[in-house]
Amino acid sequence: MLQNIRVVLVNTSHPGNIGGAARAMKNMGLSRLVLVQPLDFPAADASARASGADDVLDGAQVVGSLEEALVGCSLAIGTSARDRSLPWPMLDPRECGAKAVERAATGEEIALVFGREHAGLTNDELQRCHFHVHIPSNPDFSSLNLAAAVQVLAYEVRMAWLTEQGAPAKVEKADAGELATLDEMERFYDHLEKTLVDIAFLDPEKPKHLMARLRRLYGRSAVDRSEMSILRGILTETQKVARGEPHKRKD
Ligand code: SAH
Repeated sequence: MLQNIRVVLVNTSHPGNIGGAARAMKNMGLSRLVLVQPLDFPAADASARASGADDVLDGAQVVGSLEEALVGCSLAIGTSARDRSLPWPMLDPRECGAKAVERAATGEEIALVFGREHAGLTNDELQRCHFHVHIPSNPDFSSLNLAAAVQVLAYEVRMAWLTEQGAPAKVEKADAGELATLDEMERFYDHLEKTLVDIAFLDPEKPKHLMARLRRLYGRSAVDRSEMSILRGILTETQKVARGEPHKRKD
């Protein structure tokens, strides 16, 4: 089940941190590492800091974008060392561990996303995540070393997993269909944005955080596959009406 939880490191500069993250993961039983455009990898420093977690490093998947790193995931949790301008659903590390384990147990793929050493994650990257997690550190010195942050969250995942091992199996929600994955959600947001431009609800010159707010709304809703096809169908028909093409309305 822990294999359904991947750790995503975005644009890491220091290979030592990649090795440190791999070690932290393996200590806690996590094995899936995804690297988005690391500056220097593979590297001797990474292997040195991994000290024995070479299998995690060897199995690391290197990809070109965060979007690629999230393919197949239905839950992404982004980390942030500080507050951002647009408020977002927040989890503390304990809740993050519990949520990741609870959702991974139903077969979903989960991503924990970590940012750059110097700049963290961009707002755009954070808005691709359903939740944000902040490790409640000293406000005057809030930023942990990247591998240390991975360690804290991996530990919380392990604690939640150990608790779940001892708990009786939960009955799955009867009505829950398979959730839309993040890549399906991305295609939906793309379609939604185009449609909103077609009906002139969204002015590309003055977007006013509209798409970010809609991402936050839909991200809260745990949209399943059949709901997704309804939403896509609505957009397709809306676009036809807006463009004056033949459509389902009879008038
Ligand atoms: N100067 C950057 C700090 C990045 S620290 C900034 O202000 O955002 C590098 C990464 O470690 C972060 O992107 C995050 O993934 C993780 N991290 C560090 N401190 C954290 C904290 N207190 N809570 C959650 N993640 C943290």
